[in-house]
Amino acid sequence: MSKVRLFVEQSLAPGQSVLLSREQAHYLFGVMRLGAGEEVLVFDGRSGEYRAEVAEAGKRGGVLLCREQTRPLQTPPDLWLLFAPIKKARTDFIVEKATEMGAARICPVQTAFTNAERIRRDRLQAHAVEAAEQCGGTFVPEVAELQRLDRLLDGWPADRRLMFCDEALSGAGATLAQAAGDAPGPWAILIGPEGGFSDSERTRLRDMERAVAVSLGPRILRADTAAVAALALWQSALGDW
Ligand code: SAM
Repeated sequence: MSKVRLFVEQSLAPGQSVLLSREQAHYLFGVMRLGAGEEVLVFDGRSGEYRAEVAEAGKRGGVLLCREQTRPLQTPPDLWLLFAPIKKARTDFIVEKATEMGAARICPVQTAFTNAERIRRDRLQAHAVEAAEQCGGTFVPEVAELQRLDRLLDGWPADRRLMFCDEALSGAGATLAQAAGDAPGPWAILIGPEGGFSDSERTRLRDMERAVAVSLGPRILRADTAAVAALALWQSALGDW
């Protein structure tokens, strides 16, 4: 049976004791039924994955003892996913899938037609942690606070290219491979909300030197499907797949 994996905030190294929170203790000892002496895999998002033994198991806490490293840290390519939050379950899905697919940073953005006024950043970050635990990742992408797309574009980094997924191009525009060629370096993907992009957003994005407007095929995809499709395209063309 594969070992339970747990993300911990504390920095890990061989011989290090790791104090467990109440929630972590509940998960390991209540849900997964582990006891003293049993093993788990732990990672801190910065220094790889380690084998650890349960040294103390309690209802409200516990202690793990970190042993040898089992895998080095594997960071994803420098890819941000910008997306307009949609309904709660579908936004959770986007964060989970972006983590599995290897985004380095997840940035919820408010566009002209975004329905959500606020997000629960801590809850979305917890989804990213869970996704990394279950997919064998050693890195957890940061979920940023919700920010306005226009403000983000005002300060857009000069070296970061933007894969602008434009539903107006569906079936007619260039694919990523045609639009971007083999361009290494930092990238971001932008997915719009259910209502799509406004005309002024589209004009601004199409005029951006670092942006390439890309079609995701002849059908209009839901935003959560579009996010997964775009991540798969980018990873296979320019990423670590
Ligand atoms: N309401 C819009 C319409 O009917 O044209 C559709 C918006 S779509 C549900 C949400 C987002 O997914 C879009 O803003 C875009 O970023 C992306 N998307 C969906 N289908 C696409 C396609 N075929 N090509 C490019 N982007 C697409």
